[in-house]
Amino acid sequence: MALTRLLVSACLLGQKVRYNGSDKYLDDRLLTLWQQQGRIVAICPEVAAGLPTPRPPAEIRPSDGRIFEDTGADVTEIFETGAQIALTVAQREACRFALLTDGSPSCGASFIYDGSFSGARVPGQGRTVALLRRHGIAVYAPSEIDTLAIALEREDCRA
Ligand code: SF4
Repeated sequence: MALTRLLVSACLLGQKVRYNGSDKYLDDRLLTLWQQQGRIVAICPEVAAGLPTPRPPAEIRPSDGRIFEDTGADVTEIFETGAQIALTVAQREACRFALLTDGSPSCGASFIYDGSFSGARVPGQGRTVALLRRHGIAVYAPSEIDTLAIALEREDCRA
């Protein structure tokens, strides 16, 4: 039985790649198991695109979907580049699933911030998530890890 692979946000794995230099380590037995099984492909789309760590926070502007740093700089194109790199890696590594950090303008799977840098959340998805989903990759937030585990098990049985 082949084990299904999945793309995972590097910050969930403890890599300090977030805009503020921190991680978002997800202490979960399933994630640990998947690491031990060699299923996981780590990616930080923003760092892969060449952004430094730390870097200014960025949010998606709801009116037109463009992405701005809190400095006012338009970083839409570099976030698009990061999304393309993540898709290329997922396809190369045969990842049909992804577990990505919620809230991020790249990795948010169920919510993002509203573009005002006030901490207000809105339902939505990040750039990388949108691109992965358009290409048939099922993306889950950390809060959905149990559902992801069921989907992975089903896929393992099919393979
Ligand atoms: Fe984590 Fe994704 Fe942000 Fe990189 S782009 S720090 S992987 S949430």
